[in-house]
Amino acid sequence: MSEDAIRIEGLTKTYRGSHGQPEKQALKGIDLNVPRGSVFGLLGPNGAGKSTLINILAGLVTKTAGKVTIWGFDQDQNPRQSRAAIGVMPQELNLDPFFTPRAALEVQAGLYGVPRSQRWSDEILAMIGLTDKAEAYARTLSGGMRRRLLLGKALVHRPQVLVLDEPTAGVDIELRQMLWSNVRKLNAKGMTIILTTHYLEEAQEMCDQIAIINQGSVVARDSTANLLGRLDARAMVIQPDGPVSTLPQGPGIEAEARADGTLALRYHNRQTSAEDVLAAVRAAGIHIRDVRTEQADLEDVFLALTSSR
Ligand code: ADP
Ligand code: MG
Repeated sequence: MSEDAIRIEGLTKTYRGSHGQPEKQALKGIDLNVPRGSVFGLLGPNGAGKSTLINILAGLVTKTAGKVTIWGFDQDQNPRQSRAAIGVMPQELNLDPFFTPRAALEVQAGLYGVPRSQRWSDEILAMIGLTDKAEAYARTLSGGMRRRLLLGKALVHRPQVLVLDEPTAGVDIELRQMLWSNVRKLNAKGMTIILTTHYLEEAQEMCDQIAIINQGSVVARDSTANLLGRLDARAMVIQPDGPVSTLPQGPGIEAEARADGTLALRYHNRQTSAEDVLAAVRAAGIHIRDVRTEQADLEDVFLALTSSR
């Protein structure tokens, strides 16, 4: 048995052009693995292909080529088992306005062939805070309640993998906190979580693994800790008070004399402190007229990796 919850190999998707639109290659040969038990963040700008990827996992979009394995089951060879292993909270609100939350959960459970004895609609309703609204029509629910119901629907068959497509885009803080606390609880019980989000801080906080995709390709894939390791790069830019004969030296410090007469000193915040850098500057006999710092954060690296080529 593979250790991966999801394994994706050479996945491509080309949408056929319609209404005079040219065809669109939304995924260009994606290779990706999602370890079991992880909270996996799929990041990328609008149009990167995140929803296409997720909808292929969900069986809502047919792939053009490639192989998708969910919980050890090949999507083409074992469509039923692979579908049973995954629950998806889609980006779009797609609820039947005439169903009550309880009915929506029961119908969904029926679609997945969950026997009545194994249904857990009451627990789900409690978890998503809709016990009071169990018998209200979906069309009378607020936007936030509908999103919570979408989460509930993704859980009816107790999938091993839960996928959330932009669950917190445009929702208020309270709902966001509720969603994240549910995600944490489900993950603590062993569920593998895959989510897309626009909020990089949120990805940083929630996810232990991150993939960044851009224009249909994976441009970074690492543990969050390693990505942040890349991100703690700092630069101190010094305007020396006079000509510089010796560049500052020190462990973890990379010095560069720039054409404008400034000195850029690159270092990693985790290993080297700003104090160490300043000490190295003084040791090189350099007097500082002015100093400023440049620092990369997740936003910068994200932009560097995803800006159009
Ligand atoms: P994301 O979720 O990262 O914003 P999408 O997967 O929704 O990206 O879209 C990826 C690309 O595929 C975009 O260029 C989008 O316009 C295009 N696309 C998405 N769905 C369709 C579709 N049904 N038909 C044609 N093109 C589509
Ligand atoms: Mg999307």
